[in-house]
Amino acid sequence: MTVSGVLARDLGTLVGAEFVRMPEIADLEDGTRWTGLRGTADAVVTPADAREVADVVRWCYDHDLPITVRGGGTGLSGGAVPEGGVVIAMERLAGIRALEPEWWRCEVEAGVTTATLHRRASEAGLRFPPDPGAAESSQIGGNLATNAGGPHAFGHGQTRAWVLGVEVVLAPGELVRIGGPLRKDVAGYDLTSLLVGSEGTLGVITAAWLRLVPPPGAEQIVMGVFPSAQAAQDGVAGALVSGAVPAALELLDGGALQDSAATLPVPGASAAFGELDDPGQAHLLIAHIEGDLVEATAARGDALAAAWQDAGATWTAAPESAASTAIGQWRANVSGAVAARRGGKLSEDVAVPTDRLAELLDGSEAIARRRGLEHAAWGHAGDGNIHCTFLLDPSSPAQRDAVHHAAQELFELAHRLGGTVSGEHGIGRLKTGQLAKQWDPGAVAAHEAIKRALDPKGLFAPGRKTA
Ligand SMILES: Cc1cc2nc3c(=O)[nH]c(=O)nc-3n(C[C@H](O)[C@H](O)[C@H](O)COP(=O)(O)OP(=O)(O)OC[C@H]3O[C@@H](n4cnc5c(N)ncnc54)[C@H](O)[C@@H]3O)c2cc1C
Repeated sequence: MTVSGVLARDLGTLVGAEFVRMPEIADLEDGTRWTGLRGTADAVVTPADAREVADVVRWCYDHDLPITVRGGGTGLSGGAVPEGGVVIAMERLAGIRALEPEWWRCEVEAGVTTATLHRRASEAGLRFPPDPGAAESSQIGGNLATNAGGPHAFGHGQTRAWVLGVEVVLAPGELVRIGGPLRKDVAGYDLTSLLVGSEGTLGVITAAWLRLVPPPGAEQIVMGVFPSAQAAQDGVAGALVSGAVPAALELLDGGALQDSAATLPVPGASAAFGELDDPGQAHLLIAHIEGDLVEATAARGDALAAAWQDAGATWTAAPESAASTAIGQWRANVSGAVAARRGGKLSEDVAVPTDRLAELLDGSEAIARRRGLEHAAWGHAGDGNIHCTFLLDPSSPAQRDAVHHAAQELFELAHRLGGTVSGEHGIGRLKTGQLAKQWDPGAVAAHEAIKRALDPKGLFAPGRKTA
């Protein structure tokens, strides 16, 4: 019998023959497909529940086969791109086991999409604040595995801040529960936090207990246009000292605005970009302010707008709260609008101390210029976490090569500025080798020792999240 025949037979016994298949192209790529990254796999398995996940992991461990966990496949670092072995796709673990509004918590399986959880929490009068951009496709398991961020991570923290406990399959196939519906637990090492952000390299997350909160009673958006990266950085500082305490503080540079400004659903905004001496240098800041009372929240918006005028904004606006959903959707579409310009892009997620933001923005644009690439940048300015983006025609090997080298230069820039190569997408396959440049050798050794302790055969996502 061929290898694939044995796989199909044995895995079919564990999960049912119809839930084992040969990989299709979509199983071998993720959100990095524009870079040409495509993996290989011997089989794709879609288990029905945590017990079946444990059985599959045990079988792979017994047979020395690599395991790649696949959530929604929206990741932007190649983490779900397999390198041989078995892909465990989590889409059938899509149950909400418990939603307890009276206790502000829920227990969900890993394959529930982010948007489904948002909707279900909202129907129960509550909110799950983490808001990564591909919410209709990304899964809670993927969000935990990457410790996903998003605009509201600035005020509410990344996914990790909302996780009370996890159910996970560890090597060699043991289903364990760490934490649970507990708001506090310091009894052992913080293994829950270790698994959050582990990118499928330490085990398979099958379910999670999550915190929920009531939504704010009022929301006010404030926008400001700044004539340079330095002025925008001053605007970020102005927002912090204004007393407005934004929950999200986002930025788009001139390159991102080139593709998206025309559709911004705020009167006067487009004209404000054009009126600058150098529209290509326009930077838009967007602050979301949350509060309990409409008038008090609006007053905080006024304070922020005044601070931005003092910081050099050439235009500010505070749209009606009714516009906030449309503005949020517009912001979520920026990535696609920029990609459409050349057909492809590589968006990185470097993060720097916020007082080095202007150096990052100007430096990233300079890298693109030197390499003959078009550039755009947008992201979470309040967190110093920017999606520096190099555009490419995916059919051009020369441009793919130039983009790869531009990304390496960008990582060096982030290191020089005291930052990190990844604020939210993870190391995956695209940033292999970068951790050792950013951490002390002793810290890297501890990182590797954890991997060896939890995955002694090195079968979970081999080669990924490595130093
Ligand atoms: C348009 C767009 C906007 C985005 N915006 C943001 C943003 O604002 N913030 C942000 O942080 N990210 C963003 N992302 C990146 C991506 O959506 C997130 O990283 C998301 O958390 C990935 O979830 P997923 O289910 O698609 O994971 P996948 O891509 O399937 O996997 C990502 C990693 O997690 C691992 N994994 C997945 N599920 C599990 C599991 N159950 N157990 C163990 N490991 C698992 C995989 O092996 C892989 O290493 C964006 C992506 C796109 C395409």
